[in-house]
Amino acid sequence: MTRWARPGGITGTPSVPVREIHASGLSVQRGEVLVPTVFGDELTERVSCPAAPLVAGSLQRKGRQVRLAPAPRYADSGADGDAVLYLATCPRPGGGYTAIAAATPRGDRLSAAVAFAAVQEWAAVAASRVVLAAGSPWCNGALRAAEIYRRAAAEHAGSGRTVRVLGPLSLPPETAAELDMLGVVQVTSLADAAEGDVVLFPAHGVSSQVRAEAAERGLVVIDATCPLVAQAQEGAGRLASRGQHVVLIGQRHAAAAAPIASRAVGQVTIVENTGGTTTLNVTDAQRISYMLQPGLPVESASGVISALRSRYPAAQGAPPSGLCYAPSDRLATVRAVATGSDLVLVLGDPQSSDARQVVAQARDAGARVQALGSVFELTPALIDGVTTIGIIESTSAQSGLAAQVIAAMGGLGQLSVVRRQVRTEPPALEDPQDGAGRHLRGGQTQAYRSATAVAPAGVTGPRMAST
Ligand code: SF4
Repeated sequence: MTRWARPGGITGTPSVPVREIHASGLSVQRGEVLVPTVFGDELTERVSCPAAPLVAGSLQRKGRQVRLAPAPRYADSGADGDAVLYLATCPRPGGGYTAIAAATPRGDRLSAAVAFAAVQEWAAVAASRVVLAAGSPWCNGALRAAEIYRRAAAEHAGSGRTVRVLGPLSLPPETAAELDMLGVVQVTSLADAAEGDVVLFPAHGVSSQVRAEAAERGLVVIDATCPLVAQAQEGAGRLASRGQHVVLIGQRHAAAAAPIASRAVGQVTIVENTGGTTTLNVTDAQRISYMLQPGLPVESASGVISALRSRYPAAQGAPPSGLCYAPSDRLATVRAVATGSDLVLVLGDPQSSDARQVVAQARDAGARVQALGSVFELTPALIDGVTTIGIIESTSAQSGLAAQVIAAMGGLGQLSVVRRQVRTEPPALEDPQDGAGRHLRGGQTQAYRSATAVAPAGVTGPRMAST
């Protein structure tokens, strides 16, 4: 039987055909709705339901108990049957079709009404769409550090040594969970490390004092400092040794600021904004250099640089090849996706600072934006009338969430997926020591092969460490 109806709350769509099949062999508990991920009768090929999480989300919001699972083969039993299956179909690229479906036990009228409505409302927004997917938010420096942590944890597993990583950390959620399982302990100070411990230095680096203390105590140190941060640290030290006063344009509380400033003690000032240039006090106006703290969009420094140069015309800047462009590229990517989309979904914990920042950036670019913590939160009303959907992962997004959302959208009709990523050709991300992570004990150096190129397959963009 086919029922036609116009779902409430969905505008501008025609009535939607939803088939009702009385099925034998489909076991559904009373009070429960089965949302099949795949189903089929005894005679025909099984049909996949990529949009199943979307239907399940609708049902959960309506208070139904939902089972998301492959459905066993059933027999179409006419008016009788164990269950009632509601389904609508969408054409699939290359032929065939996918289905939007839900099944309820026979005689459960309330569940049946809710299941029918859920199938109908998603079928009503089925359409051909384009997804503009931003590249991953994690930069190479953060991914490289994560890989070094993993290797260190694996190497020292069962050795009796505790592996500690100095925070604060900025890691993909799944990496943080993996390290936790491997027994890696996050600490905020070397005081928490004991004799014999392995200590991991993070991507944003550590101060000279911490480095010296670790060496003095004979701790096993594995240095995952991002090469661009290491370059900035060394640059600050070099300038200070030449008698230059270093203006570090950045944020005082950013994780990378103190490690860089520690290389130029007494000769460095952190300037956060143009106002900071007016209170700057240097003894020799001819010997002043400025550098940008890695981890900030390079464009954000232009106002400060102008103000500094107008006050100190002799001020010299670092060469552009030494800058980190990952934050600028990410910002440009967010803007590119936002301006090309009818709706932008920002994936991850909506309360996380990164998600909030990306939401604000996309809104500033004029986009309609929705933060999304899971695929189940997507609603038909959100995508009604939308033809191009931007998908941007925040750093709090679980691995695979973007793929889940894209797969579910693919169950609502033809879907083209385009990846947008703005990328400034980076300087070679090499360690100062032959591209190797450094593994030090008592002055010894053990080479770690560089883990710079560790972006997952298909992910083209940088993710941000908290530098
Ligand atoms: S933001 Fe830049 S400097 Fe900071 S860890 Fe990432 S690549 Fe390195």
